[in-house]
Amino acid sequence: MTLERLHARISSCLRCDYHRCRIYAVPGEGPVRADAMVVGEAPGRTEDEQGRPFVGRSGRFFDQVLRQVGIDRGRLFITSTVKCLPDHPGPPREDSIDACIGYLHQQADLVKPAMVVLMGRIACRAVLGIEDLRVATAKTWRWRDMLCCVTHHPAAAMRFPEPARSFRSDWRAIRRRLDGLAKHSPPEQHVRRPRRR
Ligand code: SF4
Repeated sequence: MTLERLHARISSCLRCDYHRCRIYAVPGEGPVRADAMVVGEAPGRTEDEQGRPFVGRSGRFFDQVLRQVGIDRGRLFITSTVKCLPDHPGPPREDSIDACIGYLHQQADLVKPAMVVLMGRIACRAVLGIEDLRVATAKTWRWRDMLCCVTHHPAAAMRFPEPARSFRSDWRAIRRRLDGLAKHSPPEQHVRRPRRR
């Protein structure tokens, strides 16, 4: 299985109800051998319209923080816990997370990043099974033989000063770790835009 084939499968996935209201599934994007894999919560309206992760308001905030700490977004493979826009307000439902999480596992196995960054409570709970973000952010974890760290979701960081401070400080620490890694990403990119369902 290649990443491209996996993303084609995600783009036509009917495993949960979220496929009914999507324009595009949002499998994720980034180098096939990214230094780090970043996991958010779920696509929002703008991501759904473009089929790309983190391109809405919180994505612009995330890009700004990446620039401030000196990380090239092209070093990251960016995806989310569920790959389609939820058909309701609030976080994705458990049954949809359960239906979708296998795709994230497959992406991690294919990208094999040196580090996984979980952004927000939903990604943290879905991957590490930890509810309390304060517990999760306090240390570095291991997940599927990869280093794994947790930070706030950009949507929370852009609204509240304390999460914003922690978010910037976490990403500075992530940059230092990434700079210390010997791994280099080839420039190859997977096809970003998935098929319309
Ligand atoms: S959210 Fe995940 S499981 Fe549900 S339809 Fe989309 S790709 Fe499939």
